[in-house]
Amino acid sequence: KLYNQVQDLKGSIRVYCRVRPFLPGQTSPSTVGCIDEGNITIVTPSKSGKEGRKTFSFNKVFGPSATQDEVFLDTQPLIRSVLDGYNVCIFAYGQTGSGKTYTMSGPKNMTEQTQGVNYRALGDLFKLAEQRKGTFIYDIAVQMIEIYNEQVRDLLVNDGLNKRYPWGNYISVKLLVHVASTMDVMELMNVGQKNRAVGATALNDRSSRSHSCLTVHVQGRDLTSGTILRGCMHLVDLAGSERVDKSEVTGERLKEAQHINKSLSALGDVIASLAQKNAHVPYRNSKLTQLLQDSLGGQAKTLMFVHISPESDAVGETISTLKFAERVS
Ligand code: ADP
Ligand code: MG
Repeated sequence: KLYNQVQDLKGSIRVYCRVRPFLPGQTSPSTVGCIDEGNITIVTPSKSGKEGRKTFSFNKVFGPSATQDEVFLDTQPLIRSVLDGYNVCIFAYGQTGSGKTYTMSGPKNMTEQTQGVNYRALGDLFKLAEQRKGTFIYDIAVQMIEIYNEQVRDLLVNDGLNKRYPWGNYISVKLLVHVASTMDVMELMNVGQKNRAVGATALNDRSSRSHSCLTVHVQGRDLTSGTILRGCMHLVDLAGSERVDKSEVTGERLKEAQHINKSLSALGDVIASLAQKNAHVPYRNSKLTQLLQDSLGGQAKTLMFVHISPESDAVGETISTLKFAERVS
């Protein structure tokens, strides 16, 4: 059913909410009151002892026990449309620690079962391309970038050594690497992760303060008509959405926070104006929305995963995350 829905919509925006389970050792009470299909109720404790309740609605809500398999099942239809020539953006939004990287990539010690959306999506692309071998020939290439303080960095170029990755070639400054299997992609993602870490010091986990984007370009040639179809998929692990206390941070940290704030609101503005079918879409307000312009709006399909942490001391961030999400859906 979902497959048909997504197929029927030419351009579409879907918003899924995912609640992280409590981590081992966490005992704090949960802010999540109840979850059904697309609704989630958040319980806000108040000092006077009276609880507040607020319900938010999305296309789908995944509770803390949802598996990577279940989450991917509702993502899969989008993958197929990339091979049909559509552009797709999948975003992970939420405060640091809410599970963005878990959804997109997986946990640190990953097994096949805990692989995230990007591995599964790539796996599906190769599988489908193989199935269509008699009618289509596909060429699949990936690129991986990071946006930090509004600056774009190519993660597949080892700029530490200023060396090109051996099997790559430059296409409009960004390195595009042709891949033939999920293994190739996994290897590249490792390179990207390592390069990403180069910029980070022990105290300065840059991954939560930059956006990372894995882009898969697909070009298919119809063997009978010769028609070329081009589609691409952007898998974006966004910077943490938490607000920092301006009275507590200064210098670099404040600058980072301001850049993140600006780019996440710019993304929110773009998706909200697409959802409202506004004539003017403000793509130019951030690097991220500029880069993704061709894949946001028009015939393109967007999926936003918003992540929340269940702990009651995160309730403030949880409410602001859900408000952001409600605005774009
Ligand atoms: P973020 O990328 O938003 O900062 P992470 O994805 O790193 O957050 O998640 C924080 C921690 O919670 C990690 O240890 C991760 O493995 C764990 N985690 C997140 N989501 C889940 C989940 N759905 N199931 C189990 N563990 C999770
Ligand atoms: Mg992360």
